Amino acid sequence: MGEQQLGQGARELPRRFMTKKCPYCSTTLGYDETICLGCKKKVGEANEYGIAVKPGAWKAYVSALVAVSAFLGYLYYAIFLN
Ligand SMILES: [Zn+2]
Repeated sequence: MGEQQLGQGARELPRRFMTKKCPYCSTTLGYDETICLGCKKKVGEANEYGIAVKPGAWKAYVSALVAVSAFLGYLYYAIFLN
């Protein structure tokens, strides 16, 4: 008898940071700031390290993806449609 109840409700991890850092000038900003107070650049949400992401970084990612798929498409064309 007497089952022990192990700490309920204490497992919630803090998923949000209270602050984040500007990726350009390392100014500490409030979590919801969208413009850096130090350098006036746009900043995104905090990443897993509490550093704001640079908005527009996805563009570089997408263009890299496009470049790679274009290259692969060219390879496919060169190899199979010779
Ligand atoms: Zn800044």
